[in-house]
Amino acid sequence: MIYLLIGVLVLLSLVMAVSIWRHYRLKRFIHRLANHVREQTEHTLPLDFTDVPALMLPLYTAFKALLRQLPANIGRDPLTGLPNRANLKKTLAPLMPLTHGALVLLNIEQFRFVNDLFGFHTGDKVLQAFALRLRQFSSQPRFIARMGGDEFLLFFDTVVEQTQLLTLQQLLQQPYLVGNAPIGLKVKIGVLQLATDHADVSQMLRRVDLALKKATQPPFIAQYQHGDDQANQREMSIINSLPKALQQQQLYLVYQPKQALVSGQCVQAEALMRWEHPELGRISPAEFIPLAECAGMLGVVSDWVLDAAVAQLARWQQQGIRLPLAINLSSSDFEQDVVGKISAKLAEYQVDASLLALELTERTLVANLPDTQQKLRELRALGIKVAIDDFGTGHSSLAYLKDLPVDEIKIDKAFLDDLLINPNALKIMRCSIQLAHQLGFSVTVEGVETAAQRQLLVKLGVDVIQGLIFAKPMRAAELVCHAEKLHLFSNMDGDI
Ligand code: C2E
Ligand code: MG
Ligand code: MG
Repeated sequence: MIYLLIGVLVLLSLVMAVSIWRHYRLKRFIHRLANHVREQTEHTLPLDFTDVPALMLPLYTAFKALLRQLPANIGRDPLTGLPNRANLKKTLAPLMPLTHGALVLLNIEQFRFVNDLFGFHTGDKVLQAFALRLRQFSSQPRFIARMGGDEFLLFFDTVVEQTQLLTLQQLLQQPYLVGNAPIGLKVKIGVLQLATDHADVSQMLRRVDLALKKATQPPFIAQYQHGDDQANQREMSIINSLPKALQQQQLYLVYQPKQALVSGQCVQAEALMRWEHPELGRISPAEFIPLAECAGMLGVVSDWVLDAAVAQLARWQQQGIRLPLAINLSSSDFEQDVVGKISAKLAEYQVDASLLALELTERTLVANLPDTQQKLRELRALGIKVAIDDFGTGHSSLAYLKDLPVDEIKIDKAFLDDLLINPNALKIMRCSIQLAHQLGFSVTVEGVETAAQRQLLVKLGVDVIQGLIFAKPMRAAELVCHAEKLHLFSNMDGDI
């Protein structure tokens, strides 16, 4: 009896170890084990728990049945029955180097909405139907795998034509009749043609993934092109070297003055980041800021900017220069305690809040709107001015901006460039400026380069301009040299 008990325990541990080791879900295992035991004991219910030998037999039979099934499940996705990512690597490795055929990676766009709207059960059924359609696809890929949630990979041993991919996409996008409503999916496709040698399976998977990321425009099918991964390597190298750049002072701020059109005076400067990378040379903030944000590192960068900008304000204060400074913040900055951070920094350097201004894009403003609005109200209550940056590039609408706690709109250069060539752009600009004024916003136009542009903006009633016509972004020392010319030592009240 005791030997039988020990035997069962050993068996149990073995099955558990194997199941965990091969990613076999423990919960599913226990569930199935219970079902097996129930089947085995159907005829002997109710169970007598004091009768151990009577319990052992159904348990033993259940384990045996499950053990028989295990090899079939190992390396397979239990939902669709397709090989999973681990199995794929194992299958492809012996075929390397793959020099012909294609890898095709499919992604279902926003699949989480299917789960959110119809529930996980329906979501599972749709994925099963999706996998079935893949299997039925006439051109018979040699291998189909489920890579993860809503991502599937096909391996064809012949070249795959665009027409084939469109047919496959159409097939997969036909509505799925699960439950009451037909469910439509959007499928993006990335393709890696295996005409050349690819070093290893991981590299091939990375490349086909890059192709998928490129599939952002209709028909949402993109091929990996030679060199795509070099761009990716540059991005990786930028992200990886950012912490070092912060430590080694490779980052610095430049300051671009803004001019009030009526008085001609410099009323504020914008702090813009610069990065001199030892190997990659100068990297534009337009390139590294979005990367830092994607990598979740923008918080540290913005902290650095805030510190550097407020420290500069304090230095100017000591030099008798009163020049308000605007810094750019992104949406991830507003996920943190931005109000606490800014007020602490101002207190640390004993700088008046009215000297600091913030520039936020519409994307930042509308992300997590109620929370952002509340934080902006608190910041404005401290005396900090807030501007909407790059106005006119997003889905700008003064109608919804009217309720936002901001002081200024900064019209983007792209809008300005249109003015002299497109009469409708001029009408839109004129109306936008009038409306903005009626709503109580000050209007700044950025990227002003010519006298003709400035003249036109004066006529349109623009308050402030920023651009090369007035001053380029410059280091603090250079700005101080221009301080006299820019009238920074007198009559500066900081209001715009
Ligand atoms: P932005 O905030 O709209 O900054 C204005 C950009 O226009 C700056 O480019 C500036 O150098 C450029 N510019 C100014 N006047 C002229 C002109 O007359 N002609 C032309 N062609 N360009 C002009 P920059 O410095 O490359 O910055 C690009 C963007 O990077 C900024 O756009 C801002 O969105 C972002 N950025 C810069 N510094 C920071 C920062 O410290 N934090 C954050 N979050 N973003 C920053
Ligand atoms: Mg800006
Ligand atoms: Mg801008």
